[in-house]
Amino acid sequence: MADAICMGELLIDFVPVTTGTDLLTAPAFQKAAGGAPANVAVGLARLGTSTALMCRASEDGFGKFLVKTLEDGGVDTSLVRRSRRTRTPLAFVSLAEDAEREFLFYGDPSAGFCPEDVDFSAIAKAKLVHFGSIGLIPEQSCAATLSAVDAARGHGLHVSFDANLRLDLWPNADAAKDAIREGIERATIVKLSDDELEFLTGSRDPAATARSLFHPGLSLMVVTHGKYGCTFITPEIDGKVPSFSVVPVDTTGAGDAFMAGLLTGLLEHPDDPLTSDRLYTMCRFANAAGALATTMRGGIPGLPSRAAVTALITEEADR
Ligand code: ATP
Repeated sequence: MADAICMGELLIDFVPVTTGTDLLTAPAFQKAAGGAPANVAVGLARLGTSTALMCRASEDGFGKFLVKTLEDGGVDTSLVRRSRRTRTPLAFVSLAEDAEREFLFYGDPSAGFCPEDVDFSAIAKAKLVHFGSIGLIPEQSCAATLSAVDAARGHGLHVSFDANLRLDLWPNADAAKDAIREGIERATIVKLSDDELEFLTGSRDPAATARSLFHPGLSLMVVTHGKYGCTFITPEIDGKVPSFSVVPVDTTGAGDAFMAGLLTGLLEHPDDPLTSDRLYTMCRFANAAGALATTMRGGIPGLPSRAAVTALITEEADR
């Protein structure tokens, strides 16, 4: 059984065939497997963590492509419920010259994920459950996700949450804020980007505001700063950890690769205390995974192997 269970959207990303084009100017789009929790699942598997994705996937051709991509990426798909009732959700994604990303979503991002789809016996045997905010948007998916997360907490598992804000999918900003706060409330580990921290607290400075989001069950929050790395915050300590110098070609999936790196570090010694040294090492590993992900085009293709992450860390140490 899988040590890590990721939960949430599995969808087709249509990405422009040429870089530097937006949705207005892109001449054509290419299909790619996507959805942040799916990316994190493949990222974890590439780093050597046994991982399953729990979600619903359509039986249509796109759904078959998604399940095959997960399997090829080493992810256990036995918890993916197959359904003829829904079509595979789609997201058109573009990356303009100024690196602003645009998303245009079609369909229910959860593909109809509902409480009956949750496998509680798999959760009981896992070490960690990971989820994000998009799975909290459709009502049934939200109920399913929260029941799975509550079960995980009940079994004493780590529960990680990546805010992964996509405002366009929400009826309004307040609804997004409430759901992200609810996700944080249920989690033991949280990842936010600095944009998301600002959205929630009005400030991009983690040392100043991140602790206002803490609750008694939350042991670690990590705020990512793109090429500048990340900041870890626990109830007692915080520290900034620089990233690696790379030549980025596409930042899609950097946050998911980072998340996979962070969780892999955590799961190596799940019960060890989160000391400053340990957090620094975990964040360096996660930064290396995130940095490497930016050096290749596409979300899943860019997720690095453990060997690549270790090589980047060793290379930098030898300099
Ligand atoms: P996403 O856009 O995938 O949702 P995010 O906003 O959650 O990502 P970022 O802060 O963009 O996350 O990136 C995650 C991590 O990846 C950073 O903390 C950093 O370690 C690494 N990273 C991202 N971009 C770069 C870069 N240009 N150079 C080096 N490292 C990078």
